[in-house]
Amino acid sequence: MTGAKMIGCINHPGMEAVGRCLQCSKPVCKQCGIVSVTGLYCSEVCREKYEQYMHRAQALESEKGYKRGFFFGLKRAVGVVITLAVILFVLGCVASLTYIPLLTDVTTRIRSLLGI
Ligand SMILES: [Zn+2]
Ligand SMILES: [Zn+2]
Repeated sequence: MTGAKMIGCINHPGMEAVGRCLQCSKPVCKQCGIVSVTGLYCSEVCREKYEQYMHRAQALESEKGYKRGFFFGLKRAVGVVITLAVILFVLGCVASLTYIPLLTDVTTRIRSLLGI
């Protein structure tokens, strides 16, 4: 065995690397590699950086989901208001055509509200 194709550890060139750091991709041997639930790292600094990054990414993702939900709700509320306004407006138009005094009054109010 010449070990020519072996990837050496960044700290111990003679030792075979068991994997690469998730954060900086440096090859590390099993002696100096830090194994965490999230993966393999060359140092505590890299582990912290990577886990912080993952944490931030997850927080950002859930924040986005929350905003999406909020805008969706807002859009639906606006849709309901518009639908109601259209119904009232149509009712008002019909009323003004048929001259129902009470509904004509409503039409005038809606028209002044909408600026038509
Ligand atoms: Zn690293
Ligand atoms: Zn090493």
